[in-house]
Amino acid sequence: MIVTIDGPAGSGKSTAARGLSQRLGFEFLDTGAMYRCVAWSVLDQNVDPTDEDAVGAVSQRIKITFADAKVLVDGQNVSQSIRTLKVTDVASLVAQYPAVREELVRLQRQAAEEIDIVSEGRDQGTVVFPEAFCKFFLIADPQERARRRHEELRAQGKEIPVADILQQLDERDQRDEQRTVAPLVPADDALEFNTSTLTIDEVLDQLEQIVRSRMSSNPH
Ligand code: C5P
Repeated sequence: MIVTIDGPAGSGKSTAARGLSQRLGFEFLDTGAMYRCVAWSVLDQNVDPTDEDAVGAVSQRIKITFADAKVLVDGQNVSQSIRTLKVTDVASLVAQYPAVREELVRLQRQAAEEIDIVSEGRDQGTVVFPEAFCKFFLIADPQERARRRHEELRAQGKEIPVADILQQLDERDQRDEQRTVAPLVPADDALEFNTSTLTIDEVLDQLEQIVRSRMSSNPH
């Protein structure tokens, strides 16, 4: 059974997807981390991020693994290094390339084969798992999203002004929403939540309740 959670950066989808997967006893797939792994490898191998063919080749060459809450590229732990501002920026650039998306979509579908999973990203409900059992689309006000990201970065010891974060989020949203392949849009049958004024437990209570009531009325 597949549950998808899509939405823009800072909408709370990662925390919600992780928490929901724990509550349901499902696996969890962070597809943003996969785009970040491609971006990290591109930078690590000094590949030009604007060279679409070369970046596509990198995405096919590397081996991305999730193990014990760690993200590995070719066996190297990149859990921290894929979260830098540079990698974040390059991730949304390389995510526009059809060859990269094709490869990662294939891996995402493979990862979800025959297991119960909560998968989060931008296109999980629209492109990757159009037949998902339950689809959510989370949003939050820009100020709140920037505030959350600011806190996250501060926890990593990085002090970046909220205004700069707001600008970066805005640029990333525009790129994600306006790209031609798999743009960030809610699926027609996704349930939309604005998480701006909700605590994570409030979000999780609502999502869990919806999934469980669907499961009891429509066991798969
Ligand atoms: O979710 P996260 O911020 O880690 O994603 C990093 C970038 O990867 C996003 O800005 C987006 O461009 C891209 N992405 C995507 N499709 C997904 C997940 C992430 O295009 N399913």
